[in-house]
Parts: sequence; structure tokens; C-alpha cells
Amino acid sequence: MLTDDFGREVTGVRISLTDRCNFDCVYCHNEGLGDTRGPMDPQENEMSADDVVRFLEVVEEFGVGKVKFTGGEPMLREDLEEIIRRTPDSMEVSLTTNGTFLPGRAEALKEAGLARVNVSQDALDPKEFAEITKSGAYDRVLEGVQAALDAGLDPVKLNMVVFKQTAGYVPEMVDHVAENEGLQLQLIEYMPELTGHDEWAIDIGRVHDWLADQADHIERRNMHGRKRYYIGKGMVEIVDPVGNKSFCANCHRVRVTHEGYLKGCLNRNDDLRPMGDMTKDEIRAAFREVVANRVPYYGEYLIEEDGEWVVNEKYLPEKTVGV
Ligand code: SAM
Repeated sequence: MLTDDFGREVTGVRISLTDRCNFDCVYCHNEGLGDTRGPMDPQENEMSADDVVRFLEVVEEFGVGKVKFTGGEPMLREDLEEIIRRTPDSMEVSLTTNGTFLPGRAEALKEAGLARVNVSQDALDPKEFAEITKSGAYDRVLEGVQAALDAGLDPVKLNMVVFKQTAGYVPEMVDHVAENEGLQLQLIEYMPELTGHDEWAIDIGRVHDWLADQADHIERRNMHGRKRYYIGKGMVEIVDPVGNKSFCANCHRVRVTHEGYLKGCLNRNDDLRPMGDMTKDEIRAAFREVVANRVPYYGEYLIEEDGEWVVNEKYLPEKTVGV
């Protein structure tokens, strides 16, 4: 297993299979790459199934035991089932999707080896949902969640980004998972770092306090020191990375962009390394290099000065002289 200079073992990879998406969520960071709009047809720049599998076979050698497929919308990839089927058996496979393509495909994904699925659902009302996602596919998402449950992919984790526009819907989403079998809720603090709109951010501490009041019991996990709030039939977790040094200190993931660039941190794009047509040996070397270059985003790449987060000088590009 590879360990970075900050003592963090790399146990998982998160692979974006495409940056195409049939939604246009107002808050979307597109896995750190910015704008999600673009053509819906398969693109030449996307990693092929062979590229993805070759990379997974290499990281398996380094003891990486988990892979999460994401996007864009990963289910726009017609070969997703093939990719999952060809993923090394030792790896646990999970998927983050907007859910619209799960009806009719959830069973095949499960059969191919998918263990878990997260479905993004930011509201419980078609109109509010459409405002956030710029899509009218609300019913299709609910059908997608049901299809995943029917295929035995329970518990299904619902991802909800909490920001100004959705904060008011948190109580009804919590009730929803508390009252229905097989659902969990992941409340994700809105991250303005890559999308702008700082004014959309909310005080996530208040959500923690409110949940603690509602919970039947609370469990603290080792990972990120994250709490699990058990309410009724459901479980709710909060993902709160913004300005959170301990979140970064517990990050055990390397990312891969849809174009096959290794990426050490969601919030950084100055450490990308293209894998292109690399051989397995070259991928081994590139992966080692990316892990060796990993730094915690908050507390190392960004440091606090006068109450502000600023880029640590060490990571600023060298100034060019005489240009
Ligand atoms: N299309 C898939 C989906 O809808 O889940 C996968 C891609 S989406 C970029 C992956 C996750 O990132 C989603 O759960 C989404 O809610 C979250 N996300 C996107 N932008 C975010 C932001 N600015 N802050 C916090 N979470 C964000």
C-alpha cells in the first residue's frame, strides 16, 4: 500500500468516466473540472474501458481496495457494466449517479459486481428539483432509486448538496429516509471552491446541531471522525470538507479525470498527470509520483492568514523572469 508524505494510505480511487451529463445542477463542480455543459454523445477524449481496467489492475497491486465511478453522469457510458465486470474482483465497486438511467439497468449493474450506489437527490418536489438540476426528470430519479432497491443495492445513499437553495428541504429529506426502508442520506456541504458563489454557502455546524437533536442515536466513525445520525429507519451523515483540515487529513483517495489524468486532490488542478497510452509500468511510476506529491488541501496547500485561506507559497508556480 502506498502512503503519502502526510501518513495517508491510498486505499481508494475515484474515476470520472465522462464529463457529459444530462443534468445541469447549479452547484456542480464536475469533480473539480468546472463546467459540465457539452455534447451528450460519446467523446473521443474519454478513457476507454481498456484504459480504466489497465489502471485498476495497476492500483490493485498497490492494495487499493475501492473504486468509485462518477462523472459527469457515469451511466451515460454504455460500457459501464463491462467496466464494472472487468474491475479486479478484490475491489469494492460503487457508483455515484443522478439515478435517471437506473431503471432497466440496476440489475445488470448489480450482476456485473456493483456493490453500492449513491443517487443525487436534492429535493422532494418536482418543481424545486427542476430549479436545482435544470431537469424535469424528478420522477425518473425516484424510479431509479426504487430500481436500485429492487436490484438489491440497498441501502441506497441519497446525496443532497446543502446550500442556500436546498437548506430548507433538509428536514423533509431527513423524514424521507427516516420513514422509508433501505435509504440513507448524505448531506454534502456546498463547496464553493471550484464553482464560485461563496454566498450560497451555509453554516454546516447548524445542520450538525439540528441533526443531533433529531437523532435516536449518534455513532462516530473513524473515517474523518464523521458522525452517523440514526433517525427512524434511516441514517444520515454530513460531509463537511470546506476549510476542514481533519477532513483532508483523512483523505485516502486518488482521482482520475474522464480524460485519464491522475489527480491527487479534488480541489487542485496543478498536479494533474496524463496517463494517455501508458504501459502498466509507466502507470505504476505515475501513480507513485502522484501519491508522493499529494498534500492536504486545507492546512498545507491552503493556509490560514488573518482568518483567510491563501495558497501556500510553496505551491505557487515559479515566477518567470524577463517575460
Ligand atoms: N452525475 C452524478 C451525480 O449526479 O451524482 C455524479 C457526478 S456528481 C459531480 C458527484 C457528486 O458531487 C454529487 O453527489 C454532487 O451532489 C456532488 N457535488 C457536485 N458539486 C458540488 C459542490 N459544489 N459542492 C458539494 N458537492 C458537490
